[in-house]
Amino acid sequence: MGLTRREFLRICGGGIAGISLSQMVIPEVVEALEKAAAGKPPVLWIQGASCSGCSVSLLNTVHPTIAEVLLKIIDLRFHPTIMAADGEMAIDALEKTASENKGKYVLVVEGAIPTGKGGRYCMVGEKKGKEFSMLEWTTDLGKDALAVLAFGSCATFGGIQAAKPNPTGAVGVKKLFDMKKIKTPVINVPGCPSHPDWMVGTIAHILLYG
Ligand code: SF4
Repeated sequence: MGLTRREFLRICGGGIAGISLSQMVIPEVVEALEKAAAGKPPVLWIQGASCSGCSVSLLNTVHPTIAEVLLKIIDLRFHPTIMAADGEMAIDALEKTASENKGKYVLVVEGAIPTGKGGRYCMVGEKKGKEFSMLEWTTDLGKDALAVLAFGSCATFGGIQAAKPNPTGAVGVKKLFDMKKIKTPVINVPGCPSHPDWMVGTIAHILLYG
């Protein structure tokens, strides 16, 4: 692949004050990512109790640009905010991707997961006329994912939604998985919002080194 893990970490960790990772990420890194992404795992991005600020943050990535990220580096199959399809057509596409790629897709979670009242504080869609919650979505998709990326403080630790008295029982992904005994690895990338460099850098690391 032409870029060792040591070199990658040196680039990520060699920050100079005032210069962000996105400014330091050299074209060779983008090239290496494109090659690594040849058999790229599908990515499903779901949103729960969130302000969508982490999505907006990702859209601000400079180098690679968001167009490069979406068209060349990751195979984003579902994102409620930026995808053109909506309604049942979009949900069907997500379900199809998940069922055809069990254990192979990456699930990105943005936002906390309200667990109170069986998840009814955060209903996110309908399947065959039946509503479903972020709690069901994260549980069902999470158990069959290759890994889960929890982007932002809401998805990692519950964020402000989980502040006392936490009336909706909001939790982050890892806590939910512990409650449900789901063993899928969770990678926490906190921040409010999470910085685009941290999100792109984490996706890059998974693509390059697994
Ligand atoms: S972590 Fe912050 S920016 Fe991201 S979804 Fe939560 S409140 Fe919004």
